[in-house]
Formats: sequence, C-alpha cells, structure tokens
Amino acid sequence: MTQVKDRAYWFEKRETLQIEGRAFIDGAYVDACKGATFCSYSPIDGQPLATVAACTDADVNLAVAAARRSFNAGVWADLPPRERKAALLKWAALMQAHLEELALLESLDSGKPISDTTGGDLPGTIYCLEWFAELVDKVHGEVPAIDPQFFGTVTHQALGVVAAVVPWNYPLLMAAWKFSPALAAGNSVVLKPSEKSPLTALRIAGLALQAGIPAGVFNVVPGDGSVGRALSLHLDVDCIAFTGSGKVGRQIAANAASSNLKRVWLELGGKSANIVMADCPDIPRAAASAAAAIFANMGQICSAGSRLLVQRAVADELIAELIEAAKGYQPGHPLDPQSVTGSIIDRIQFEQVARYIDIGKREARLLAGGNALSLAGEGAYLEPTIFLADANARIANEEIFGPVLTVIVFDTLEEAIAIANQTEYGLAAAVWSSNIDTLRTATRALKAGTVWGNCYDELVDMNFPFGGFKESGNGRDNSAHALSKYTELKSTIIRCG
Ligand code: NAD
Repeated sequence: MTQVKDRAYWFEKRETLQIEGRAFIDGAYVDACKGATFCSYSPIDGQPLATVAACTDADVNLAVAAARRSFNAGVWADLPPRERKAALLKWAALMQAHLEELALLESLDSGKPISDTTGGDLPGTIYCLEWFAELVDKVHGEVPAIDPQFFGTVTHQALGVVAAVVPWNYPLLMAAWKFSPALAAGNSVVLKPSEKSPLTALRIAGLALQAGIPAGVFNVVPGDGSVGRALSLHLDVDCIAFTGSGKVGRQIAANAASSNLKRVWLELGGKSANIVMADCPDIPRAAASAAAAIFANMGQICSAGSRLLVQRAVADELIAELIEAAKGYQPGHPLDPQSVTGSIIDRIQFEQVARYIDIGKREARLLAGGNALSLAGEGAYLEPTIFLADANARIANEEIFGPVLTVIVFDTLEEAIAIANQTEYGLAAAVWSSNIDTLRTATRALKAGTVWGNCYDELVDMNFPFGGFKESGNGRDNSAHALSKYTELKSTIIRCG
C-alpha cells in the first residue's frame, strides 16, 4: 500500500534525518581546521537544526589545493568525456534516489514548502545536472579554413579550479547551475553555500564521491561571507561564479581584479516588470500568473515579477483578480504538503521585508496583506502583500526580495517600457498583449536577459540562458552558453610541411 505523504509523514521523517554539518574537502567530511562551528537554525520555527563547520581561510586553502591537485592529476579533466558523463549521471541518479531526504533537508534549512522542494528544487537540480552531463561528449571545436600549409583548431579547455559562491533562495538549484556546467567542462570545483542554507550542498558532496567523482574534484566549504571573500582573493582559483546581491558581487569583482584577474561571473538582483496591456488576451490568467510571479517561494526569487505595470483601462479588473489570486499564497507550515508558501529565510530577511512594507504603507496604497503571521515558534511568515504605487516610489524601484508586489498604472506602451527600464536591474520582464506588433516592440525594447510574452516564468527548460542586463550581472547560467564560460578558448596552429 502506498503511504500517504501527509504532514505526519514528513514530521516523522524529520525525527530520523541524519544531518551532516562538516565541510567536504578532498573526498572526505572534515571539521573546520580551527574546529569552529556555527548553528544552522530552521526558519520554520527558529529552532537549531544542525552544527556546521565554520570554515576559514585555512580550510579554503586546503579545498583549493585539493581541487588543484585533482585538476593537475587529470583524474577528472582528462577522463574520456563519456566517463565524466557517466559519473555525473550516476550522481544525478543518486540524488533522485535520495530525493525525499534532500527535499526535507532543503525545506528544514530554508523554510520552503515541501511541495516546492519535492516538486521543484530537487527535480530542477537533477534536470540541470543531467542536462550538462548529456552535453559532456557533444562539445565540438572549430577547424577554420586557412592557408593549406597550416592546420588549425579552436578548442575549449577547462579553466582549472572554479569557485562557486551561492545564495539561500534556491540553495541546491543555484549551486547546480554553477557546478553542473563547471564539472561538465572538466574543472574541479570548490562550492561555498550560503551560511543560511548549507546542508543540502554538504549532503550531495558525499553522493558525488559515491557516484565516482574523484576526491578533490568537488569540495564544499560552509561558512559566512569571509569564506567567499577568501575564494575571491585566492591566487590559485581560476574562476569565481557568484549568485547573490549586487553589493557582494561588486566586492567579488574588485577582489578578483586585485588578485589574479580570475574570471568572474555574476548573477545578481532584479526588479522585474510584468506589463499588462489593455488588449491582454486573458486577464484572469494574467492575474494568476502575476501572483505566482511574486508570491511563489515567498517572493525570494531574483527574477520575481515584483512590479506589475497595468494599462489604465484594465487596471480595476486586473487588480480585483490579483487580490483574489494572492489569497492562494497564504503561508502554511512548510512540512504540510498542502502549503503553497512557507517561511522567509530568517528573521534578518523578515525584518528587511517588513521595513519595506512600512515604507510602502507610507508612500503607497496597501491593497492586500501587509501583516506578519505567527505559525510555528519563532518562524518568519509574511502575508502576500500588494501595493498600488507611483512609478518613482521606493518600493517600485528597490529590490525587496520578499512577498511584496507593487502595482503601477500606466497609459501608453512607451510609458510602460520607460518605467520597466528605469531601474538599475535588467534580469527579466514580461508583456501581455493580443497584438503581435506590441509583443514584438516590447520584447525588443525591454532591457532584460529574459523576456516573456503572455506568460511569466512558466517554462523550465535548460536550453535558455539565464542572467541579466545592466546591474543584474554578467554571463549566463544554463544552456550551452554556460558551459563555455567555464572554459578557455584555445587557438592551435600547426605548420604542416
Ligand atoms: P548575498 O550576496 O548576501 O550572499 C550570497 C553569497 O555570498 C553567500 O554565500 C554569502 O555568504 C556570500 N558572501 C557574503 N559576503 C561575501 C563577500 N564579501 N565575498 C564573497 N562572498 C560573500 O546574497 P543572498 O542574501 O544570499 O541572496 C539574495 C540576493 O541574491 C538577492 O539580491 C537576489 O536577487 C540575488 N539572487 C540572484 C539570482 C540570479 O540568478 N540573478 C538568483 C538568486 C538570488
């Protein structure tokens, strides 16, 4: 008989969950050199969840040295591509076999609803790893037509040691967006998860070894920002791939420049505009999509549709539908499979979002939500919140990174595009219209790395690069373009005869 996976099931599973908090360096779980630890609290109820190694520069040095040794020894980079592919696919299969355990760990560590981690984060992570594994033996170079006395090729070569520094909003998925292409390209990796959500990264490191990924090729160093800083300054790191805030991204770029000019790839913040024209083909659908675009994952999504721009003629109708749709995103206990949203990552982020809600109450009109909820112990839960604001309001321009939507009314398409493009960000945007010319004009004019027409973030497909224009960063995650960023291009020219 199939067991019902209700709240009791996940609570029971939590009781027997073994949590690994040690760093993973050179193929083994180890304490931090100085023996220091920090406590990882669950945002679900604010209770201690695990004791985690607090790595420092000394641990970073060990991890980078192990990565370098493995790279130089060729145990990964020089494997026949089909063998690298097989190991990565085996790793993905092990994650699949441990999906419930990893999903539960992710929910406990990040406050995400279990329905998201089982249905989104873990399948997305596995899909990403499989997609890049499948690419390993399909990489081709170029043979230019040149002077017949010469033979020349243009090939991709692994960089060496890649550091990945990632945030807490999709702990495992954001990590996979970095380590999958970096490993597929033949690099060795040192991963620094967020101190707010380090546990799944640590767990999958053991699975990597089990899958046959050699010691030293995949290392995980938990700790605070100082660990990321040490990686950004390290002279033996060839590339640092970062997802997080613009403030830290700038520091990483400056540290890379002042050390060894390591390659820097930055995926940063966003304040994405979702534009609904009066000729929108389906207002209820647009409203439902707009609610999902900002309230899913408690609004903690870099590409969240945090600004809803609506043309005046349909504003009242859209807002009424939106307020109804928002009711579907009331937070619930993350271990209840019925919950669609859960807890904010921690009290610090909760306070930051609450401050923006206070600002919104002063500068804009509150249409829905705006309150904290008390669901479990010291957990951090916020109602889905909607404001109607002027395009220049602070809440219409600054990234809040929480369940707060700002609605702005406009009159013309030109005005909407100008508002959409006015922030320093350029991560994503959308436009809803029945007119192909309007869709074409808007999608061309919107300054964003991803632009949707008549939908918002509905397609999960690794073929599409993800990243930003302007201060949302540089480089792209996902797609074959992401593989190239973890390689150097080499021109080889041989004189023949
Ligand atoms: P953050 O910048 O505070 O931290 C990100 C990571 O950097 C963490 O692992 C942290 O420990 C580390 N870090 C902190 N200080 C550092 C330093 N001086 N040097 C090196 N590393 C350091 O960001 P966050 O709060 O974890 O995440 C939220 C931010 O991430 C938001 O701005 C969001 O928009 C952005 N984000 C962007 C994307 C994207 O793909 N563009 C995806 C998810 C999140």
